[in-house]
Amino acid sequence: MAELNTDSKSRTLFCHDATAPQREEVFADSRNIRITPEFEPFFQPDDMFSRGFWDRGFANKLTMRFFRSFVKPKERERDEEGFTQQDFALRNGPWVVTEMFAEMHKARDRRDGFTDDFTPHLPPKVEPADMGTPQEAARRIKKVAKLYGSDLVGITAYDPRWTYRSKFSARSLSSKPVELPEGLTGVIVLGKAMDYDVIRMSPTATASTGPASGYAEDATTLLGLAQYIRSLGYLAVATQNDTNLAIPYAIQAGLGEYGRNGLCITRDYGPRIRFGRILTNMPLAFDRPVAFGVEETCRICRRCANNCPPQAIDHGNPSTYRFNRSNIRGVKKWTTDGEKCFKFWVSRGTDCANCVRTCPYNKDYNRLWPKIMRRLLATPLRRLALMIDDRLRLHDQIKPSSWWHSENGRYDVLERARDHPFDADLKAQQDRVKEIRDNRNKPAD
Ligand code: SF4
Ligand code: SF4
Repeated sequence: MAELNTDSKSRTLFCHDATAPQREEVFADSRNIRITPEFEPFFQPDDMFSRGFWDRGFANKLTMRFFRSFVKPKERERDEEGFTQQDFALRNGPWVVTEMFAEMHKARDRRDGFTDDFTPHLPPKVEPADMGTPQEAARRIKKVAKLYGSDLVGITAYDPRWTYRSKFSARSLSSKPVELPEGLTGVIVLGKAMDYDVIRMSPTATASTGPASGYAEDATTLLGLAQYIRSLGYLAVATQNDTNLAIPYAIQAGLGEYGRNGLCITRDYGPRIRFGRILTNMPLAFDRPVAFGVEETCRICRRCANNCPPQAIDHGNPSTYRFNRSNIRGVKKWTTDGEKCFKFWVSRGTDCANCVRTCPYNKDYNRLWPKIMRRLLATPLRRLALMIDDRLRLHDQIKPSSWWHSENGRYDVLERARDHPFDADLKAQQDRVKEIRDNRNKPAD
């Protein structure tokens, strides 16, 4: 076998291979996602975190205080349930890992894990090891990924459509090219679940410890697995929030289905999971997309949309509508308004996970009801299952102070979640669409 090129100096642009389809194309066997001829790969400077640095509408003192608060817990501390010094200190603990990687190569205009893939620690060049058949190689990779800390692992084909058109440069506050080695064929998607009880406190600083720990643990797993693959003589590019979009790869790799909240809903953790990706040229068997009723459930359930504080989640049907420049162009799907979401985060001084907390798939599946519920949600009885689930109120926000003090896993409720009013909500929406159409058809005076 020919020697593979693992020399980072010879990296070349690779994202321009992405092409829009001639006609609308179903993505990953999904009824709810279509790629249209207007498709364009995403431009990272347009994501809300980048816009927080360069876009005059968002780059302001409050946003800077929001960013700073992840290293300075006193910045947004206040006398409010879930926002005390204790809560911010808890959230910021695991963030130190992610921050360290982001700062490590700052002098070279690299923010590993945010805008750039993790800088590789290259082992001596070796001949690619014999991994057996692609099925055997995939089995080994999954075993090692789990050993290194992954909760879910899926493998799919490299798809240049999900590579950013350009990355964001924090130094120049503009774009910079995406550089990837040639010859990538596969993507290993690693899922790290977030703590169930912690996410139940969203939207507070205490709850944000869930994503903070997820990022930190994900980083160590990604680095370890990438190094394992390089030591076997293959390419491995470890990516987190950088370089490419996580959700399409997670769906393509069979880890879950696309939900109204814009997230990948997994069978074992619902949307309460983070995804890292390793791009590689190791010959691996690919997984198939899965379906367990999420698409059908999302069409009648709007719990995430009802419980989104700034109302950033679409109540309607999948479409190519873009709320603003932070939405990808030419993909028919459920879309969220990132501007509204980000403004809410900044105003509160921490991130939010209400669309994760309130999702009926966000459950502790070690218990009996969640297992029954998941089965029912895959059948025409899903409406009944959702009604029962509403009654059980597992999706209410719990009080951070009771989480700190509870020793038996029982918590006080801070706020009751808004249930999905099913048809009433749909009816209101249909009435509004009818009203708009009627007005449009009215003859001019
Ligand atoms: S994170 Fe919070 S604000 Fe953003 S879309 Fe989800 S529920 Fe809405
Ligand atoms: S809360 Fe309901 S509508 Fe939203 S993603 Fe979960 S199942 Fe779908």
